[in-house]
Amino acid sequence: MHKPPLFHKLPLVGNLKNIFMYVFRKSKNNHPAMRNQIERLSKAQCFLIDLDGTFYLGDRLVEGALHFIDVLHQQGKQFLFLTNNSSKNRRQYADKITCLGMPVPEDLILTSGEATASYLQQKNPDVRLFIVGTPELENEFRSHGFELVQDHPHCLVLGFDTTLTYNKLWKLCDHVREGLPYIATHPDFNCPVGKNIMPDIGSMIAFVKASTGREPDLMVGKPNPLIIDTAAVKMNLPVEAFAIIGDRLYTDIALGKTSGITTTLVLSGESKRSDLDGSPFQPDYIFENIGGVADWLVEHR
Ligand SMILES: [Mg+2]
Repeated sequence: MHKPPLFHKLPLVGNLKNIFMYVFRKSKNNHPAMRNQIERLSKAQCFLIDLDGTFYLGDRLVEGALHFIDVLHQQGKQFLFLTNNSSKNRRQYADKITCLGMPVPEDLILTSGEATASYLQQKNPDVRLFIVGTPELENEFRSHGFELVQDHPHCLVLGFDTTLTYNKLWKLCDHVREGLPYIATHPDFNCPVGKNIMPDIGSMIAFVKASTGREPDLMVGKPNPLIIDTAAVKMNLPVEAFAIIGDRLYTDIALGKTSGITTTLVLSGESKRSDLDGSPFQPDYIFENIGGVADWLVEHR
């Protein structure tokens, strides 16, 4: 019989509460529905892999990261790296991962910037856009055929702009006040950088709301299932073929839950086991790191 994955790595000695929970979960895992749930991870055809905190930490790969990719290759499974960070483009992420020791083509990276551009392209490719974003994000939208303008836009896009200026925010607030459609690439308040934290797009959204009273009409990145729809088109697979691995409950795991795909939390990044208490986003699986997922896939093939 399969080991219960939720507590695959749980130390069972010295903690009565953990032992009780293990027995409780184990009895639940005997239910046919739970057995199906367990099997879902081994049946996934394509793994959506979060980057920071899951595949790498700052400038080093997480233990077992390369082993995980090897196992996917051996088992004929696919993968796609998924990041909410819209300040960089696919090429920059591909270069970084390649420098860390795993050559990867940019086609296997999906950013919230690309997902937002793809979404707008499907909805209305002819609109003129006002964008607050890095030059890389602007080029992403240009490559999707959009005209970028400062005045008289049809739609507004806010990205994680590390080249932000007061004038850009002022202009955005003017346009938001006009009532134009207003889209943000993702909702994150902060971006981890090694042991430091960078204010992310959520802080800019809060600035605009304080001035205009408006929040974005749409935020495309995790946990919005729109980004999985984009992944499905990109990989030419149905949504049900995917499973997601990430280190954040309220973005990675929430995305998997809202999309109905199998979710795996790794404890190598932001989340601690204690964060699960009271969280509305309970993962299907928990592992110490992505290497643990690889071992499980080998064991349960
Ligand atoms: Mg992460």
